[in-house]
Amino acid sequence: MTQHEKQYSLIAAAWVILAFSVIYAPRVSFRTAVRRDARFILPQEASASSSSSFGLAVPVVTPDTSEATGTAEEALPDPEPPVVVPALPYVVEGSSTFAFLRTPNIAELMRRSGDPPHAATDTRIRVPVLMYHHIRPIDGSVSKRELPYTVDPRAFEAQMKTLLADGFEAITPDDLTNAIHGQAVHLPAKPMLVTFDDAYVDQFRFAFPILQRLHLKVTLFIPSGLFGRMGHFSTQQLALMDATGLITVAAHSRLHPDLRHIPLARAWSEIQGSRQDLQALTGQPVHDFAYPYGSRNSKIVDLVKRAGFTDGFGVRWGSLHVPEDLFYLRRIQIFNNENLVPVLEAYLTNRVHVSN
Ligand SMILES: [Zn+2]
Repeated sequence: MTQHEKQYSLIAAAWVILAFSVIYAPRVSFRTAVRRDARFILPQEASASSSSSFGLAVPVVTPDTSEATGTAEEALPDPEPPVVVPALPYVVEGSSTFAFLRTPNIAELMRRSGDPPHAATDTRIRVPVLMYHHIRPIDGSVSKRELPYTVDPRAFEAQMKTLLADGFEAITPDDLTNAIHGQAVHLPAKPMLVTFDDAYVDQFRFAFPILQRLHLKVTLFIPSGLFGRMGHFSTQQLALMDATGLITVAAHSRLHPDLRHIPLARAWSEIQGSRQDLQALTGQPVHDFAYPYGSRNSKIVDLVKRAGFTDGFGVRWGSLHVPEDLFYLRRIQIFNNENLVPVLEAYLTNRVHVSN
């Protein structure tokens, strides 16, 4: 080969590499992005969005009156290997100031709630059940779809600290269901139940250190087939959290399908199987279930009861808990930067309805 021929073949090879990377690289990363984004789609996301007074696009959720509207989309098991999380403690910077917590429009929040107005004689159980998904720094890596379901760790810590300072006390699902059954349970004057869905690894990485510092009890609704898969915490990480005694392990199916849109036999395996998986793993009874996407119908509710669960949590807004709703308990989706003290106090007393 002459010197010229060598140069030509080098240039030709460079063009081939360049052409390949231009044509294929974006497809590969797009596929990865689509697969990541396609994981969990909550029913609220299908609703129209409106910009809120607290800076996020907040989905408008109409209080549910019949069945939850779920999407037919299912979360398929991810082939990716487990995410390795560095064992670094997350340091919350600037957590001495809560200045960035904003008070949302309480009247608007109460309108979103399906709770009836509170009369002075009404002694029914009112407990705000807080629903969180992702706890991670809000930066460019948070997709538009994840944003309404993501709370920054600093905001989360500030929310919890301000609630505790205001006298709110975390309770367990057992405390709540016992109170609903009218058993002799003395709920604190300002009870709250803090729940995390979907077993995201960011909950372990960012929320768990905060929970430990504040010694706060929380409930994790875990899809038992997703441990260690991309974006989810592992069984070892669950064991670390469970060892603190702060965690109630609760079921959220195995693979997070919309239970109404799969054959009943598979729904049974998702429901009962998730309870068996988690009990085998923790050696503790698991009583509490949350419907993926909040999606259920009477057949699904029957399966949840038959599997031995004592309650079922949904995504209907509100804080009023009555025995008829034990298998579709209300929760309140929490957004980033919300000052929860006025929000939860309004839910406890429903005073906005009274004063308006
Ligand atoms: Zn979920």
